[in-house]
Order: sequence, then structure tokens, then C-alpha cells
Amino acid sequence: MLEWSKPERWANPSAKHHSGKLAAKAIEQARIDVAQLIDASSEEEIVFCSGATEALNLGLQGLVRLLHASETSTLVAGFPDEHPAVGQCLVALKKQAYLQTNIEIQPQISDSNPIKLPENDPRLLVLCRMYAQNETGKIYDLLEVRRKNLRNGDWLFSDLSQAVGKIPVSVQQLDIQMGGFSGHKFGGPAGTGVLYLSRKKTRLNLQPITFGGGQEHEFRPGSLNLPGIVGLGVAAKIAKRELNIWQSTVLKIRETFETRIHELVPEVKIISENEQRLPNTSMIILPPEAADKMKQKLPGLCVTQGSACASASGKSSHVLAALGITKQGISNAYRFSFGRTNTQSEVLECLNMAFG
Ligand code: PLP
Repeated sequence: MLEWSKPERWANPSAKHHSGKLAAKAIEQARIDVAQLIDASSEEEIVFCSGATEALNLGLQGLVRLLHASETSTLVAGFPDEHPAVGQCLVALKKQAYLQTNIEIQPQISDSNPIKLPENDPRLLVLCRMYAQNETGKIYDLLEVRRKNLRNGDWLFSDLSQAVGKIPVSVQQLDIQMGGFSGHKFGGPAGTGVLYLSRKKTRLNLQPITFGGGQEHEFRPGSLNLPGIVGLGVAAKIAKRELNIWQSTVLKIRETFETRIHELVPEVKIISENEQRLPNTSMIILPPEAADKMKQKLPGLCVTQGSACASASGKSSHVLAALGITKQGISNAYRFSFGRTNTQSEVLECLNMAFG
């Protein structure tokens, strides 16, 4: 990234001069590395964006506009624990009355009453189901989602933000038609992201939501973020190469954390404890006294209450609410996320200081 930020090296990758061509080559290498990380069938399926929020909005809004323009009768549905980048996008689309002529949007379908259209229903179903939950770490079985909810030809739209770089992701095996994720979740720079578009389905002819130059097939116009995209590509390469070691390292740290916190705070509840979960995530609900003690003893501890995005808007966790957790439980819920630079002894020291 530093190299491509130097004034003598930086060039607009769209420029046809020598420096521009070198920059374009670096972008195309990053596109290949990102495609390989998620097992896309071609690097042409990768659209570079500024983050998952933009990618997911671009995909969903572009798709809905295309389906509206082509008068395809469609049902677009999402689950209540989707990140606002999907959930709020669906809510906003639902308010756009002009779409309602042929598109029905259900932003909050329930897990207990999953949607499946009858075989002879002419509507296309676009189902939004994230791969891994950002607050609880729960991993959804997307193959099962397809088997249970989707007919041949229906679409699976998946927010891959928490999964990429943390668990193996093969968009082909999972049969995902569209997905989005951010670079900073797996070691890349913040402000970079990817929209994945399966070419088998979309042929990149979605409708743009911003208009400008011809970049990214005119679908995401604007000068490309050269150093950022190079960083994203390198992070993708490293994430692919080191996935196993990353997983086993953070899992051991999490196991140490969870074993010890059960000893120190027997009333602790770990969300999705016995479910398929991301190896680095532990969302815990503490009894109020233990939560107060932790805050007093460790004012500098970097844990979050719900997602960073929810904290930014001051809203309490819609994810925990959807799991039926009480308001008091939600106010004492903390998400611990572990990284490769954390150590077992650091985690034990932290717990002993907070609760010992
Ligand atoms: N989706 C999920 C599951 C996330 O966890 C996040 C960010 O935390 C996003 C989408 C949005 O990502 P960004 O803020 O990079 O746009």
C-alpha cells in the first residue's frame, strides 16, 4: 500500500498511459486474489467498493431496480438479525412506492416461519441470509437455507462480511448469487469492500445507483482506491494462506476465555455457545454486578456492546432482541472478539483482573 501511495507510483488505473497501466495491473492482481479467497469462478465477478455497506446496498438496490425495470414479479425477504446494511436497505426499498408494482419486500421474516414459494408461484424469491452473524458469531448453514427455502432459480443474497477470512467461503459451493464484504474484517484496510456478483445469474447488468465514469463496468463508477485495493488483495492472499492457523490460534484463545469465565462467573450466558460459531467471537451476558465490576476494573478493555454500527447509532442490539433476550440482558451483553495478536495469558490476566 505504501508503494502504491507514493506520488511517483500512484496513477489513475483508468488512465491509458504507462503508469496508469501499471496501476491497472495491480488492481487486476488484487481482483484475482480476492476472487480466489471466496472461490469465485472468475475475477470478473468482483466489484470493488468502499466497504460492505456500499457493496450490499449496491447489490440489493441494483438488483431491485433491474427486476423492477424488467417487470419481474419478485419477493425480496430478509431475516431480523441482518446487519442494518441489509436490513435498513430493505426497509428503505420497501418505502419506495414505485417499486411496489411488481416487487414485494419483507424485511423481517421469522426463522420459525421460513419463506418458501410454491413451485408454481411465478414470483422470483430473493432471500437475504448472512453467512455469519456479526454479534453472536453464529454461522448459518446456507446449503440448508437453499434446500429449505429456495426453489431452482431463486436467489440467495448473502452478507459475507463476518465470514470471509474467518471460515472457508466458497460462493460456488454455497450457491450464492450475490454477496458483499469489507476488507478491514480480515486484515485489509478500512474503506475497502467487495460486491460479488455471480456471472451465471447477473451478467453484470444490474442497474447502478451512482452515475459517472466507466469504472467497474459502469456499475460502480469513480476512480478506484489504488492503495486500498492493493492492500485488500494482499490481505486476501494472506487470509487464504493462513486461514487454518488463524482459526486454530483464535479458537484456543476463545476456549481459554470461555472456560475461565464459566469458572469465575458461573451465571454467565454465552450466546450460541453450542452452535456453529465463528472461532473468534464470544458474545456473553453477564449478571449486572459482574458487568459493573468489569467496567470499573478494566476501563480500557476494548469490547463492544452489540455491533460497532449499533453503538454508533445509540440503538440497542436488534440481534439479541430477535433472540428473545430481555432489555436487561441486552444491556449486560458484551462481545469479545479475539485476534491473532491476542495471547492466552493476556486473556487470563484480563479475566482475573475483572472477576478474580
Ligand atoms: N455486515 C456485517 C455483518 C458487518 O459486521 C458489518 C460491519 O461491521 C457490515 C455489514 C458493514 O461493514 P462496513 O462498515 O465496512 O461497511
